[in-house]
Amino acid sequence: MTAHIRPDLDSIPAYVPGRSHPGAVKLASNETTIGPLPAASKAIAEAVELANRYPDNQSGELRAALAEFLGVEPANIAVGCGSVALCQELVQITCADPADEVLYAWRSFEAYPIITQVGNATAVTVPLRDHVHDLDALAAAVTERTRLVFVCNPNNPTGTAVGRVELERFLDRVPGNVLIALDEAYYEYLRMTPGDHPDGVELARNRPNVVVLRTFSKAYGLAGLRVGYAVGAPEVIAALLKVHIPFSVSRVAQAAAIASLEARHELLDRTEAVIAERDRMRTALLAAGYRVPVSESNFLWITLDAATTEFAEASAAAGVLIRPFAGEGVRVTAGDPHENDLFLRFATDPATAARFARAGA
Ligand SMILES: *Cc1c(COP(=O)(O)O)cnc(C)c1O
Repeated sequence: MTAHIRPDLDSIPAYVPGRSHPGAVKLASNETTIGPLPAASKAIAEAVELANRYPDNQSGELRAALAEFLGVEPANIAVGCGSVALCQELVQITCADPADEVLYAWRSFEAYPIITQVGNATAVTVPLRDHVHDLDALAAAVTERTRLVFVCNPNNPTGTAVGRVELERFLDRVPGNVLIALDEAYYEYLRMTPGDHPDGVELARNRPNVVVLRTFSKAYGLAGLRVGYAVGAPEVIAALLKVHIPFSVSRVAQAAAIASLEARHELLDRTEAVIAERDRMRTALLAAGYRVPVSESNFLWITLDAATTEFAEASAAAGVLIRPFAGEGVRVTAGDPHENDLFLRFATDPATAARFARAGA
């Protein structure tokens, strides 16, 4: 006889990991293509020597380093096993009743519906408008049952971002007892005008109901080590620490994050090259007739509607794995120039473009 498992888990959408395929170019998971910096590799090797010892459960040294970097106090920072763990912990600290609502735009980060259901809460979604957050509609969807709002900025998987002015107006409209999580996993790729640059940490300084999520997985290139952080009011951070799975951020992850933070200039310089590649890809795709919204991240969204799955399969057959969202479109990470060239050779080939570029248009 099999053990009794919560029956509602049957309806949880299975998380679809980015496919990997030996030999294929992988532009499916928004990772960086370059490995860790030498300083990070050295810190990792040193930390491994102490693998017999538990890590610091409070990530004290990393939090102190982040606090200095961000101009906040360590009491404003929680560290998690990837920022996705912090997303889950945010549901845990806000939702206690199945009627409690977690609000977010859709389509957005695939983890939101899963962690909401795992957390026994109710998901409420608001459609994007032209692939961009519709913040007025999101604010209008707040009810007295809303406990948590996720705003993914830039948005995964569409790559679009909302600016500071619009974001502030939204934050000011939401009641102060509703926690708003600004998921800034792609913050380092934002290049909006200085006056409209949306910096969640700044926005959260005088708004105790705003918490910001950032990660070492994307621009910092440590996706395999699992470390992200939350910045917010001490009360929110203290609650996050209560639900934190003990020791879930490994010693190796903490050490690598500290070393990467110290070497951030080198890492952030790399984002310029990624952005240049992303823009080059977008220009070529637009010229071939594809519909590609402006991206503020390290990836592009291509609207393909009903042709999505077929396009992704054809791309895989051409040696490039991308992320399909059936019936809607695909997300393509900007990788190394030669990887991007391989994708563009496939996508902009006249036969491919004729078949897909105007799909559904
Ligand atoms: C990648 C990503 C994350 C988190 O990644 P971790 O590896 O768990 O830190 C969070 N939010 C969004 C929108 C992402 O795309």
